[in-house]
Amino acid sequence: MTYRISPLWWPLLAISSPGIVPWLYVKNQKFKNNQIKAEAKNNKRIKQATLLDLPELDFLELTVLVEWSANKGFLGDAGVSYLFKTNKGTLLLDVGFGPTRPAFYHNADKLKFHMDTADALVISHLHCDHMGGMAAQRNRQVSIPKQLMPLSPIPCFLPDTAQAPGFDVQIIKKPEVLPSGIATTGPLARGLFFLGFTEEQALIARIKGKGLVVFTGCGHPTIEVILKMVGQLSNEPVHAIGGGLHFPISDGRGNRMGIRFQTIIGTGKPPWQRITDSDLDKTITTINKTAPKQVFLSGHDICDHALDRMTRKLNADTIILSAGETYTF
Ligand SMILES: [Zn+2]
Ligand SMILES: [Zn+2]
Repeated sequence: MTYRISPLWWPLLAISSPGIVPWLYVKNQKFKNNQIKAEAKNNKRIKQATLLDLPELDFLELTVLVEWSANKGFLGDAGVSYLFKTNKGTLLLDVGFGPTRPAFYHNADKLKFHMDTADALVISHLHCDHMGGMAAQRNRQVSIPKQLMPLSPIPCFLPDTAQAPGFDVQIIKKPEVLPSGIATTGPLARGLFFLGFTEEQALIARIKGKGLVVFTGCGHPTIEVILKMVGQLSNEPVHAIGGGLHFPISDGRGNRMGIRFQTIIGTGKPPWQRITDSDLDKTITTINKTAPKQVFLSGHDICDHALDRMTRKLNADTIILSAGETYTF
């Protein structure tokens, strides 16, 4: 069993416990309320959702700009940025840590990507590894490197209220088809202990002769909830699932000062509970029941142990996404 907080911190935690324990108690009350609120909201949204007029795409191609794994010459990072191309246009999902870390600009430049070449930007949710860094998250303001700023504003579809300077901001309220013929599930919520009430949208594309491709950012609402929504929006079979599924079980990315932050923050559990193999196995069962042909796993919000377990137990072909790589579905 790995320590999520190094024993070197324990004496300090023990000394500060008279302050920390009441604080955690108050946080926990709020967390429980947020969980109830998120579940009620999601149930209502799923119930109200009706079939979407999803265009049948001739092709869908994904080029990964930011991921934990990276091809030679590309930089890996604990963020996400995925560029989708279809016969109807181009759409960028998320901007990793934006200008605050080198990966997004370095990889975009190497791939000759500029925001002007995209028809729209979609931000899955308002967390630092998807919207452009810690300051972006704190200020609720999407941030990209200035060299990549669009010359004239293109739409930026957000799952919750926030700013995106240089973009035509549109707040997504419900499932809808976006430029490029790819649709959003609309916001789906999750109560997170430290990160609070979090709205996240996932993408759905319908490919001719194959079925649906579903892509997430962090996957906070859980893939179970996302797939329930997808089932309301289309009767097509799910051909592929991809993106973050958030299973930092034995470890996480971006560990600092002896603390495995991802295993504590954003897990959907209180900090004193871990995500377990049995949690992961439930998700694997759900995915296997959905029976996609391919699962494209993100390494950015998970551990190698969970990636390995998914690769072994999923009935689909599993591919670990890598920055610099292009995938066709
Ligand atoms: Zn993430
Ligand atoms: Zn997140």
